[in-house]
Amino acid sequence: MSEGLVVGIDLGATNLRAALGDLEHGIVRVIKERTTSSGSSEDLINQLIEIVKMVVSEKLDEIEAIGIGSIGPLDVKRGVLVRSANARFRNVPIVERLSREFKIPVYMLNDCTAAALGEKVFGAAKKLSNFVYVGIGTGIGGGVFVDGRLLLGKDGNAAEIGHMTIDLGDGLPCGCGGRGHWEAYCSGSGIPSFVKSWIISRRLEDLKNPLIDMAMRGEMTSKHLFDYAKAGDELALKIVEEIGRINAICFANLINLFDPELITVGGSIALKNPDLILDPIKRHVGRYVINRLPEIRLTPLGEDIVLYGAIALALKKIRI
Ligand SMILES: [Zn+2]
Repeated sequence: MSEGLVVGIDLGATNLRAALGDLEHGIVRVIKERTTSSGSSEDLINQLIEIVKMVVSEKLDEIEAIGIGSIGPLDVKRGVLVRSANARFRNVPIVERLSREFKIPVYMLNDCTAAALGEKVFGAAKKLSNFVYVGIGTGIGGGVFVDGRLLLGKDGNAAEIGHMTIDLGDGLPCGCGGRGHWEAYCSGSGIPSFVKSWIISRRLEDLKNPLIDMAMRGEMTSKHLFDYAKAGDELALKIVEEIGRINAICFANLINLFDPELITVGGSIALKNPDLILDPIKRHVGRYVINRLPEIRLTPLGEDIVLYGAIALALKKIRI
C-alpha cells in the first residue's frame, strides 16, 4: 500500500486530465488538455507521457505509481485501450508504454469504474459496501461495488451500463455502432437525436417553436434543451421529463441488478443540470423497481471524480 505521491489520469474522449495526489489531500494539482483527436496510438501515448511530466514537474523522483481511468472498452489485464465509442483510438498499449517510460507501477480501469473507486475512498461511499456510480456526460458509464468488491468482469468492462439496450425496435444509433442503447437517448451526445425523434414521433415538427426549429435543423445541443427548460419552456420541460423517465428505467434496472444502498450521479450533463436530471429520476424510478429504493444523489466529488478514482487506484487503497 502506498502512502506517497501518485499521479491520476482521467482519459476522456474530449478531455485529458492529470492530477498529482496523495491520500491525505486527494488532489494536489491538476492539468487539463484536449485529448488528441488524431486517432493515432503514438500521439495519445506521447500526450500521456508529456502530461504526466508536466503535472509532477520537479517531483518526478517521488512519484510511486500512476492510476488511469480511461474511456473504453479496455482490456484491463493487458492494460490496453481496445477501442472507444466516442474517439477513434484502437489497441493502445497504455500501461506497458507508461510503465516503461516512468519505471513505476501503472494501473488502469474504465473511467466510471475508477470513479466508483474514487467515491469509495474519497467521496460519499466511504462507509458503504453496496453502491453504484452513474456518469451522465458525453456518454453514460457506471461503476459498481457489490459486497465491498469493485466489479470488473473478465476484461474490466463490467459496468458498460450506457450500452444496455432499452429499445427493442429500430432504436436510435449509439456512438458504439449499436442501436437503442441508453446512451443514445440520454447522454450529451445522444440527446439532440432523441429530441428530434421525439418531435417527429409526435408530429410536432411544423409547430412554431425555436427549440423545434433548432432540433430539426440539427443545431440543437443538450445545453440548449436544458437552458430552455430552466427558462420554463413547456416543451423543453416535457422532453426533460421524458429523458428523466428513461433514466429512471435504467436506474431501476441497476437497482434490481445490484441492490445498492446509494447511487451517486456525476458527469457533465448531470453536474450542470442536477435538478433537471435527478428530480425526474426520483419521481419515476419507484414504478420500475422491485428492490428497496436506495438514496440517489449527486456525487460530492464533482467533475474530478475520475481523477480521485485514478489516484485511489494508484494508492492501492482497495484490493482489486
Ligand atoms: Zn452503445
